[in-house]
Amino acid sequence: SATLYLVGTPIGNLEDITMRAVRTLKEVDWIAAEDTRVSRHLCNHYDIETPIFSMHEHNEFDRIDYVIELLSAGNSVAVISDAGLPCISDPGARLVHHVTEAGFAVVPIPGANAGLSALMASGLEALMPFVFYGFLEHKKPAKLKQLQGLQQVSETLIFYESPHRIKASLELMLEIFGDRQIVLARELTKKFEEFIRGTLSEVIKVADDLKGEMVIIVSGYVAETVDYSMISAVDHVQQLVDSG
Ligand code: SAM
Repeated sequence: SATLYLVGTPIGNLEDITMRAVRTLKEVDWIAAEDTRVSRHLCNHYDIETPIFSMHEHNEFDRIDYVIELLSAGNSVAVISDAGLPCISDPGARLVHHVTEAGFAVVPIPGANAGLSALMASGLEALMPFVFYGFLEHKKPAKLKQLQGLQQVSETLIFYESPHRIKASLELMLEIFGDRQIVLARELTKKFEEFIRGTLSEVIKVADDLKGEMVIIVSGYVAETVDYSMISAVDHVQQLVDSG
């Protein structure tokens, strides 16, 4: 019946998909997929024969009316992205907004997610609470502004980054955050899965040769422990001394 399913798909290893996700993709009338070639590969693997149409960053807006038409006619539609959870640093959120406004049911089918997979294996002692930031802006001034805004955030920070920009981003983080502890999680669930743990300056040293998909986990801001009550007491005594 007229329902929009948001279906989690693997982030590398094709086995990381739930049985419910596979069944849903088989049972719905339509699949809206980010890159139809990527999704055909997944569907072939699981013998899913449901028709697929494309819905990506650049046509999501146009697809909203189309999906609402399909739902109005009693069809069910599943949204999938190239990897992981739709709407999470991927298309879907605007569609979900309009579909809920139009009064149709939206059902999440959970699955793999790169940020949370990286976080849980990070090894950081205090990883909760966290801020799921996703991608930073590409251009330096905008990225700088974003990082400055995060400088005093005490939550663990989760970023997505491409290998082309990783070194520049880590260098800017070092400049803004200082030499914090980070974890770079690379190629999660795939053959060359790797975790690089260290301070920003340590990880920057190896960042030139890194390829593949990556998540950066940055430990949160820790306020320097200054006892202000002592400072004001000392100031007060100094003032007394000064004034004789
Ligand atoms: N929707 C996805 C999710 O739920 O995680 C995220 C999609 S986003 C367009 C793609 C980015 O996620 C990559 O650039 C990378 O930062 C991260 N990512 C996706 N798969 C990954 C993997 N296997 N290992 C590490 N990072 C990954």
